[in-house]
Amino acid sequence: MGKQRILLRLAVLLFATGLLFGMQVLVVGASDATASAALSEEIASESRARVIDAESIFSGITDGAYYNHPVTVTVNEAYADTFTVNGTATRLDANNRFVLDGADGAYTLAAADAAGNSTAVTVTLDKTAPAIKSSSKLKEGGVYCLTLTGTFDEANMDRILVNGTKMALGSNGNGFTMTSGSMNKPIFGALEIVVYDKAGNTLTVHVTLNAEHTYAETERVEPTCLVRGHIRSRCTVCEIATKYEDLGYGAHAYGEPVFTWSDDGKRATATFTCATDNSHTQTVDATVTDTVKTPATCTEDGVTTYTATVMLDGEEFTATKEVADIPAVGHTYGAPAFTWSDDGKRATATFTCATDNSHTQTVEATVTDTVKTPATCTEVGVTTYTATVTFDGKTYTATKDITDIAALGHTYKEGKCVNCGQADPRYVADIPKTGAEVGALWQTLLLVLVGIGSMRTAMQARRRKAF
Ligand SMILES: [Zn+2]
Ligand SMILES: [Zn+2]
Ligand SMILES: [Zn+2]
Ligand SMILES: [Zn+2]
Repeated sequence: MGKQRILLRLAVLLFATGLLFGMQVLVVGASDATASAALSEEIASESRARVIDAESIFSGITDGAYYNHPVTVTVNEAYADTFTVNGTATRLDANNRFVLDGADGAYTLAAADAAGNSTAVTVTLDKTAPAIKSSSKLKEGGVYCLTLTGTFDEANMDRILVNGTKMALGSNGNGFTMTSGSMNKPIFGALEIVVYDKAGNTLTVHVTLNAEHTYAETERVEPTCLVRGHIRSRCTVCEIATKYEDLGYGAHAYGEPVFTWSDDGKRATATFTCATDNSHTQTVDATVTDTVKTPATCTEDGVTTYTATVMLDGEEFTATKEVADIPAVGHTYGAPAFTWSDDGKRATATFTCATDNSHTQTVEATVTDTVKTPATCTEVGVTTYTATVTFDGKTYTATKDITDIAALGHTYKEGKCVNCGQADPRYVADIPKTGAEVGALWQTLLLVLVGIGSMRTAMQARRRKAF
């Protein structure tokens, strides 16, 4: 029976090897289909028999199991005659027990009865937890970008869970990669990676997987009108990813323009010069508006403020220029006011501006005189004085009458005035005496004349006073 079992095992092993090393062997062997089916049948029944056997003979241990701790095995009394561990005869204790312990690895425990029937179980001891492979970049607390890879030292890898999601393992079975497009879709954020081996040992690693790189600027060249600018960045997390950003050419460095005016202030241009390269200039026609800064007066020109405005790249620039281009209006003089001296011999003419009466001008007049009314023996005469001024090409005159010609007095000759015929009251006629009547008559006449003369003199005096 024992030999048969060994042979059967060999057959199973060969069949399994055939399966492993090429299906072609099986396909070719399919011509012997009946034999093959019989063999399969036998493998199945042998497998069942062996398990049942092993379970009935070994207790406390399961064939094919992995243990991360010492295992106490009890061997059925009937099979306790020969007990080997990995082919080495080993003693059981008084209760047919054995504590399996030792270095990690596979252990085959075989037991036989007195008749030589034997059975065996093979288990694996693994007391070593999975560890991060030293070459792996994965580490506790690590932060990663976009992709996460972990490789582990583990002889009996079972599974890897990331936040509870089972990872597909790499071809060597000892690690995983999470990256877009792979079987393991990336999970971003705080991750808990738990690696399990078949013996129940675990390793837990906490990391963070960022969905994007965290770029920091490492070099910046500002663009100018002559140089293309750029920014170089590097990821501070992975320190591998880099980024290059082209900033293109910059604008000209135009500052305040220089304005150029026409003399009359009505037109202007603004010239901008680039600070980076002064051969870059731009001249823009300005819009010019004007306002009166100072109105003109009679004598002073008025001032206009001209404002030039230009726009460049959305910015407004202005400049102003003042031009005294509003002509003075001149005084508005009309007829003057004359001022006479009392005697009429001198006069001045004063002109006053209608715009501003503080503007006056006084001109000495030329005075001429004419007799208006001549004097008589007894009456004073009147003089007309004429004042003449010439001003701004115009002649202005004024007159003034003054009674300033003295009366002439009588000029008697032979008893009467030669001018007016007035009798001379003191005249004594050289005439012969002809009689008393004649004498009396002359005497009476003389008295009358004297009386009239006195009266006239008195009247003349009053009239003089009236003047
Ligand atoms: Zn990165
Ligand atoms: Zn420039
Ligand atoms: Zn004036
Ligand atoms: Zn007279």
